[in-house]
Amino acid sequence: MNPQDRIRELVELLNRYSYEYYVNDNPSVSDAEYDRLLRELEQLEALYPEHALENSPTRRVGALGATKLQKVSFDEPMLSLANAFSYEELKAFDNRIRREGISPAYVCELKIDGIASSSKYENGVFTLGATRGDGYTGENITANMKTIENMPKYLNKNVDIEVRGEVYMTKSVFRELNEERAKQGEELFRNPRNAAGGSLRQLDSEITRRRRLRIFNYVIVNPEKHGLATQSEALEYLREIGFPVNPHYRLCPDIGAVIEFIEEWESRRHELDFDIDGVVIKVDSFSDQKKIGSTVKSPRWAIAYKYPAIEMETRLLDITFTVGRTGTINPNAVLEPVMIAGTLVQRATLNNEDFIKERDIRIGDFVIVRKAGEIIPEIVRVNFEKRPAEAKPFVMPDKCPSCGEPLSRAAGEADYYCLNYACPGIELASLVYFASKAGMDIEGLGEKIVEELYERGYVKKITDFYYLHKYRDELLSWEGMGEKRVGNLLAAIEKSKENPFPQLLTALGIRLVGNKVAKTIASRFPSFDALSAATYEDLLEIKDIGAATAKNVVDFFRNNHSLIEELKSLGINPVADVASAEGGVFSGKTVVLTGKLFAYTREEAARIIESLGGKVTDSVSGKTSLVIAGVDAGSKKKKAEQLGIEIIDEKQFIELIGE
Ligand code: NAD
Repeated sequence: MNPQDRIRELVELLNRYSYEYYVNDNPSVSDAEYDRLLRELEQLEALYPEHALENSPTRRVGALGATKLQKVSFDEPMLSLANAFSYEELKAFDNRIRREGISPAYVCELKIDGIASSSKYENGVFTLGATRGDGYTGENITANMKTIENMPKYLNKNVDIEVRGEVYMTKSVFRELNEERAKQGEELFRNPRNAAGGSLRQLDSEITRRRRLRIFNYVIVNPEKHGLATQSEALEYLREIGFPVNPHYRLCPDIGAVIEFIEEWESRRHELDFDIDGVVIKVDSFSDQKKIGSTVKSPRWAIAYKYPAIEMETRLLDITFTVGRTGTINPNAVLEPVMIAGTLVQRATLNNEDFIKERDIRIGDFVIVRKAGEIIPEIVRVNFEKRPAEAKPFVMPDKCPSCGEPLSRAAGEADYYCLNYACPGIELASLVYFASKAGMDIEGLGEKIVEELYERGYVKKITDFYYLHKYRDELLSWEGMGEKRVGNLLAAIEKSKENPFPQLLTALGIRLVGNKVAKTIASRFPSFDALSAATYEDLLEIKDIGAATAKNVVDFFRNNHSLIEELKSLGINPVADVASAEGGVFSGKTVVLTGKLFAYTREEAARIIESLGGKVTDSVSGKTSLVIAGVDAGSKKKKAEQLGIEIIDEKQFIELIGE
């Protein structure tokens, strides 16, 4: 692939990962993998600056998605940090500063793996709390921050001050909450950081309170105003006036002492009841910091040393298979239990046949398992030197582990599929998916309880969930199912009947119809009736809907006529209110996009506008009807203001299109 295409590919991929990580608090790759790809992008951009893209993640901080929380803009931006992955890189950082004629002392602080926050105090009283968002605009989370256990609401001194810090969840609270969620059959939090992120951005502060979050503060905005000259003084002052400050920081006279600190905490980090992902190294003197300055993304006077992802060797005892809702056969590694980063790892994903064969992974092998944060562990490689003679080469089964029907692998696809529509494995996985967060999001109806309902014969198809109220007394007799839990469960099932049509369509689990595609389809065919009547050709006419998706949808409605009728008779028959392109929200409008958008690339946003009847042009003129202004919008926005043209921001755009 040529460098230009690779740059484009990396930007798209990393922006998607950032959105999953910052906005959804649900990353699909490990931080180590993200950092590796970001490094590759940085190197390519340095070699080919002419191909660097405006929306590159190397040029911006975080991501700000559609949010129901109010926005807050910062007078002083909340920046990110440059990373170092080796001591050489740290020494290069030190040398660069020395070349500027500065011989700095550094403050080393633990890099707490949480969510960055900003807090304002007026006259010593907490008045405003915000997330970092894109660094310039964050979300107002004042009410939620007030529920943080060690968050000072009043300081020991009546000062006006803005501080920054990290909101986190302790490992012990994380474990307790997950045990509780497992009991309730709820989806588990993946790691303390994601749990903290999701908890902090709740609309209901009571939920945040129950998550028992904590905070450490480490930055004072405009510290000179408080008569402070160094970061170490600032940390001391923060502590004095009542902020929680992590005590494990150290003033180091030179980079050698910094490395000692890093090494010490690499072995001691597991003593802590919170996750750290590295050490932050900051030039101590504020006047030196000013001289050294910042880039658009991060200060040049600080760097984050990231600890490598933790890898351990263990034995692969077996490979088992589960059936996915689309019939995919997923291989899983059963491992000899091994402690990695403080948790016991017994399973890892093996993705598919090619993944196993490329790495020549055999049952009985010693394998290196990596675990970054709390994300699903992955097998990195085999230790071939220790391969036992009896290690068994991997053979993909040719029959479904659930129903025994033959499996097939389509040309060009990595996965094997069970094609038996009546396969119990597929049925169960489809039911689990229907109830899950990605589907109807029915609280309390997690994997375990769905499995039990299926095995005991209460639920065989999705509509059966809606008859469960008839078995209330039987459910009450199950172990662990009290009055309150059964009541909540039945109420949540009943409430799901009101879910919007695109969500219902996603929950049906039609192959290739995820959330986004469902929304696109629903914008043209907004109800069961409309969609059941749509032909293959009708669907193909929708922008972004390909042949395979169109075929899957038509086949699904043809084969599931009675299921759809039953859903309707149960009162599950929502109608989406997004009109078709002819009568779409942008119908007859000429729209100009300007500034940075976060949820979409410019091209995606343009496509959405066109699919909803609008025309997208480059420049603002008397003919323009609407300007969508992202962050940092410049001259086009100004011109629109002068011409009195309607201007909306990204959030309003997202609301308008009903996403
Ligand atoms: P960062 O986490 O590397 O560093 C900046 C942040 O560190 C600050 O905003 C602050 O919140 C935090 N921090 C913690 N302790 C601190 C201290 N003592 N002093 C100062 N800051 C402190 O940068 P980022 O921009 O927040 O995130 C980028 C990183 O996030 C990536 O390197 C990657 O590891 C991860 N990420 C992962 C994915 C994924 O899909 N897995 C996606 C995006 C980002």
